[in-house]
Amino acid sequence: MDHGMELQGKLPRAGTTIFSVMSKLAAEHGAINLGQGFPDFPIDPVLGELVAAAIRKGHNQYAPMPGILPLREAIAAKAERLYGHAYDPGDEVTITAGATQAIFTVFAAVVRPGDEVVLIDPSYDSYAPGVELFGGTPVHVQLGADMAFDAEAVRRAITPRTKLLLINTPHNPAGRILRDADMCALAELLRGTDILLLSDEVYEHIVFDGVAHASAMRHPELRRRSFITFSFGKTFHVTGWKVGYVLAPRPMTAEFRKAHQFNVFSVNTPVQHALAEYLREPGHYQALAGFFQAKRDRLVAGLRRSRMRPLPCEGSYFLLADYRAVSDLPDLEFAQWMTREHGVATIPLSPFYRHPPPGQRLVRFCFAKQDATLDAATEKLCKI
Ligand code: PMP
Ligand code: GLN
Repeated sequence: MDHGMELQGKLPRAGTTIFSVMSKLAAEHGAINLGQGFPDFPIDPVLGELVAAAIRKGHNQYAPMPGILPLREAIAAKAERLYGHAYDPGDEVTITAGATQAIFTVFAAVVRPGDEVVLIDPSYDSYAPGVELFGGTPVHVQLGADMAFDAEAVRRAITPRTKLLLINTPHNPAGRILRDADMCALAELLRGTDILLLSDEVYEHIVFDGVAHASAMRHPELRRRSFITFSFGKTFHVTGWKVGYVLAPRPMTAEFRKAHQFNVFSVNTPVQHALAEYLREPGHYQALAGFFQAKRDRLVAGLRRSRMRPLPCEGSYFLLADYRAVSDLPDLEFAQWMTREHGVATIPLSPFYRHPPPGQRLVRFCFAKQDATLDAATEKLCKI
């Protein structure tokens, strides 16, 4: 039987992403899925109605390549209100098919064979393969003890071949944030170089305990070299809509759009109209930090009753927990065992590393879930 041609793959190290693997296993075993990062609660019906209305009004053909202007204007106004910099909606804001496509398109636009891209592990799983597909070399450094940012480790990784540095705050999977002082350290480190920054800020509104999000755009020295990526999926509980955006200074946006136009060209039109309308009300995103902070606290309280030890979580909707008091299994096996035998799915940490720290025993929990889901999960965890 002819099974088709064998290819010499461009991503020999990559398998199926851990998010798909764990969600499939959770479904097969009927487990509570605190793995892949998506909400299990309904969206605001107002937002759904806005999409339906946009479809009825006939907004069903290609959007302009960079996105519809009212949405770009609403985004620029929000960024200025929150972070004090006025991006030009005409030339500095581009709507993308989620942050994943924005990040991939940054690589497409700037990475050439031989370029080095510094990634800070644990790092989101699409970063390194994206760099490799464009011939770049990911250079992996690691967060420090307790997942704290380590500017010195970044400094040591920089070479004359470094093209781009990628940061992520609030951080998936670590749940940590960068602070103004970290941004100043980064600015100092990049001063006098041509290194670009990609700041992945998809969880910008999910920062806890009254702390303000330290966006790269607040810092003029960083902003002038930064692509900053965002995701409506995270902000409005609509991960399946796959709409996000990228902010970057004019010349960088021009290069980004050259790649973007041949990648997706443009993004879902009725959803863009709905988002432009919905964004006008700041309450729709201002409530997010408090909403998720209560869920973080609920999960932490539940985990504290179990033998798992939650790590500090300052932002995002993910929390790490150390399970060494429960088991000495490596993290992937542990996560599979928990899913199969105890009915709770999580995400192991090692897929977020090029070189997973030996002996690390951490899994990631997603708490973007109904309280009843979190309670049912922690009840099961307390029995292990
Ligand atoms: N970056 C990070 C850190 C993420 O957690 C995610 C997952 N949502 C993305 C990028 C991708 O976002 P999107 O779903 O909008 O493609
Ligand atoms: N960002 C989500 C997470 O970290 C998953 C997105 C995906 O499945 N690709 O779980």
